[in-house]
Order: sequence, then C-alpha cells, then structure tokens
Amino acid sequence: MILPIYNCFNPILRNKTNDIKDISDDTVRFINDMIETMYNADGIGLASNQVGDKRSIIIIDDTNDENSNRKPIVMINPVIVSSSEEQSDYKEGCLSIPQYYEIVTRPSEIEVEFIDKNGNNKKIRAGDLLARVIQHEVDHLNGILFFDRITPLKKALAKSKLRKIELNKVIPHYDMMSATNHVIKGIED
Ligand code: ZN
Repeated sequence: MILPIYNCFNPILRNKTNDIKDISDDTVRFINDMIETMYNADGIGLASNQVGDKRSIIIIDDTNDENSNRKPIVMINPVIVSSSEEQSDYKEGCLSIPQYYEIVTRPSEIEVEFIDKNGNNKKIRAGDLLARVIQHEVDHLNGILFFDRITPLKKALAKSKLRKIELNKVIPHYDMMSATNHVIKGIED
C-alpha cells in the first residue's frame, strides 16, 4: 500500500522514533508499504516518521536501478556508531521537502549498527552516496531535517521557498500529508 508522505512541517517529523523490540507481522507489512511508497515517489531513502509512524525503520536504495531486481536495504533501529573526520559536500533533497535541494556537509564515511528485516544484528561501513543517505535517514528518526544542517545564510535565502512547501503550494507527483494532517493529492507533471 502506498502511503502519503508527511510534509516536513508536520510535527511528526520533529519527534524521535522508538526502537522496535520484535518484528511483528504488522511491522513486516509496514516495511513493505514503506518500500512501495519510496519507489512510487522515486526516492532513494525513506524514514518511518516520513509516513507517520514511530517505529525506527529506514529504507534505502541508492542504486537507481529501475528494473525488477531492486534490492532495498531495510535498517531497523539504526545507530551511527562512528563517523570519519573527512567530510564531503552533496546536494540533498527530501521527499518531505519537495523540490528543494541544498548542499549539506557530512562525514564521508560512517559505521552503522542495525537489525535487518530477518532480525539479525548487523554492522556495516558505508561511504559515498550510501553513507550520505543513511545519515539523512537516521537524522529523520532523530527529528532532524537536512535544512537544519545548512548555513543560516542559505536557510534565510530559502525561507520563502520553505514557506510555500509549508502551505502546500509545492505539490509533487506523490500524495503528501500536510502540516495539519490533510492529504494533498499528488500531481503528475
Ligand atoms: Zn528526507
């Protein structure tokens, strides 16, 4: 089931999510809904609170592979346990902040611990785009948005654009949940 994606000004995007103790059938269904929702929106990452849920789960597919053998990465209760001193710049976007992109500086490499969808504890080292997406999505689980990490000047310059997003004047091709919990139907361009 495709779920509406919550606008970054909806309060749920500012709440921390909760770790999961066991992976119930309902959680498995929810993970499948998250995967379907992310691909429908042409995203490369999605965090649970972006679809209005408080279970700590992120979905990632940075491969840009449009064919049928897509392999989304599911991370349950992810925690970044180490970050490189080396940093890199990358222009980020977010499904909850439609049509807004800005350069964010983050550590180039990270290590992340998580539980996979089969319930196994995992620890991986990631670099490049994967490290970038993991950090962006784990930020979501902690109530942090990428524009919190840009310079005050850049944020000031983006003020009117962000205000338009808050007022649902920027409508993407997928359905969104507004800041005040109304579903805004997506429009294909
Ligand atoms: Zn995001």
